[in-house]
Amino acid sequence: MKKIHIIGGGLAGPEAALQAAGLGCQVILSEMRPLRSTEAHQTGDFAELVCSNSLKSESENTAPWLLKQEMRRAGSFLLQAADASAVPAGHALAVDRLEFSRRVADLIASQPRIEVRREEVTSLQQEDDVITVLASGPLTSSPLADELQSLTGAGHLAFYDSISPIVDAASIDMEKVYFAARWNKGSADYLNCPFTKEEYDAFLDALIRAETVQAHSWETPPADPSGVSAPPPLAYFEGCLPIEEIARRGRDTLRFGPMKPAGLTHPKTGRWPYAVVQLRQENLRADSYNMVGFQNHLRFGEQARVLRMIPGLEHAVFLRYGQIHRNTYIQAPALLQETLQLRSHPGILIAGQLSGVEGYTESIASGLLAGRYAAALARGVQPLPAPRLTANGSLTHYITHAEAKRFQPANITFDLLPPLEEELRRKVRDKKERHRIQCERALAAWDQWLAETALPTL
Ligand SMILES: Cc1cc2nc3c(=O)[nH]c(=O)nc-3n(C[C@H](O)[C@H](O)[C@H](O)COP(=O)(O)OP(=O)(O)OC[C@H]3O[C@@H](n4cnc5c(N)ncnc54)[C@H](O)[C@@H]3O)c2cc1C
Repeated sequence: MKKIHIIGGGLAGPEAALQAAGLGCQVILSEMRPLRSTEAHQTGDFAELVCSNSLKSESENTAPWLLKQEMRRAGSFLLQAADASAVPAGHALAVDRLEFSRRVADLIASQPRIEVRREEVTSLQQEDDVITVLASGPLTSSPLADELQSLTGAGHLAFYDSISPIVDAASIDMEKVYFAARWNKGSADYLNCPFTKEEYDAFLDALIRAETVQAHSWETPPADPSGVSAPPPLAYFEGCLPIEEIARRGRDTLRFGPMKPAGLTHPKTGRWPYAVVQLRQENLRADSYNMVGFQNHLRFGEQARVLRMIPGLEHAVFLRYGQIHRNTYIQAPALLQETLQLRSHPGILIAGQLSGVEGYTESIASGLLAGRYAAALARGVQPLPAPRLTANGSLTHYITHAEAKRFQPANITFDLLPPLEEELRRKVRDKKERHRIQCERALAAWDQWLAETALPTL
C-alpha cells in the first residue's frame, strides 16, 4: 500500500489525515507552524480558526446545514470536534476555538497511523509509492506556492479577504446594547448596538474618511512568471468586503448589509433602530465578541477611533483588530479532476481553500473528500467522485467545471446544486419546500455513495 503525505495542518489537512488513517493508510502530516508561521495564524496548533469562530448555519434544509449533515454521516472528525466545542450562536454552529484545536490535536495524537512532522515543505517531488494531499491553505508559503506554480504550469490567482475585530466583553456598555435574535428566530445570542440616524451618519462619515493600511508586499498577488499579464489590481472577494469599501458604495449600503436592523426589535422602544452592529459570542466564557461582518482594512489606530463611535462600544477594548490578507488558490477548473487529483499529476490531490473552495466548513469538507480519495488511491482503488446531487459533490463539481478565466472560490449555496426537474418545480412553488426536497435527495444520494465507496476494513 502507498503512503499518504499530507501538507498543511489547518482545517483540510487534519481532516484528510484522520480520514485516510481511519481507512487503514499510513499518513505523514507536515505542518510548518510553529517553526514558520503565516501572516494570519497566531499559534502552532492544528485546526486554528484564523478569524470568525463560526462554521455557519445549522438551520435545517439550508445549504451549509446540508454540507455539514453529509460530513457528519461520513464521520467527519473535525465536525465531531466542532460539535463538542460548540458555543451558543443562535442558528449557527460556532465553536470555542481553543477547545476545537485541542480536540483535533487529541484526535491526531491518538491515531497511531499518523506521523506528524513540523517542517516547511518546499518541494512536491513525487515518489511512486506516495500519494500527496496538498492542503497548505490560502497562505501557502512562497517556496511551496512557487513549486506548485512550476508544477502546474499555470499562474494561480489571488484575491483579498479581510478579518473582523474582536471586542473584550467587559468593555461593552451593556446599558446601550441589547440581546435579540432576528425576527425572534432562535435564541437571542447576538448583542446588538443600535444607531439613530444621526449616529449612523456621523459613523459613516468617519469610516469613509479613515486612513487605510497600505498593501504589504506579501499581499500582492504572485507575478506571472511568463511576464505576459500585468499584476491584477487589488481585488476584494465580493462575499467578504471590508466595511469601508461597502460604505463607499452608497450611504445606505451598510444599512442594507452588515448593519441591517430589520427584525431586531429594541426591547426599550419596541422598534427597529436605524442601523445596528451585531456582536457574536467568541468562546464558552462569553468574555469576547466578534463584530459580525465588520472586516476592514483600516489602520489599527483608526479602527479604535472609528469603531468606538458605535453606540455601546465607546470604551471598547479590542482584542484583535480587523486585518487584510492574501488568499492564494489554484485555477481549479483548469487543473483539477473531480477526485481532487491534479490532471497533470494524478498522484497529487489539492484540498481546502487552495483548491478553490471558500470557508472553514467547505475546507474541512474538501479535506474529508481528499482523505477518502487518497486512501482509495493508496489502496489501489480508483476513487469515485461524490455525486453531483449532494452538497459535497456540487461544490467539487463547481470548482472543477466553472469558467476557468473568471474563477473565484465558492461557498456552498443551493445554486450549486442541480435544480429540481421542471415538472416538480412547477408543482412546488415554495422555495423552502424545494430546498427541503433538494436536501432529501442529496442525503439519499450521499448515503448511497458512502455505501458504494466503503473500503474493506484492514
Ligand atoms: C485571515 C483569514 C481569515 C479568514 N476568515 C474566515 C472566516 O471568518 N470564516 C471562514 O469560513 N473562512 C475564513 N477564511 C477562509 C478559510 O476558511 C480559512 O483560511 C481556512 O483555514 C482554510 O482551511 P485550509 O485547511 O485550506 O487552510 P489553513 O487552515 O490555512 O491550513 C493550511 C496550513 O498549511 C500550513 N502551511 C502552509 N504552507 C506550508 C508549507 N510549505 N509546509 C507545511 N505547512 C504549510 C499553514 O501553516 C496552515 O496551518 C479566512 C482565511 C484567512 C486567511
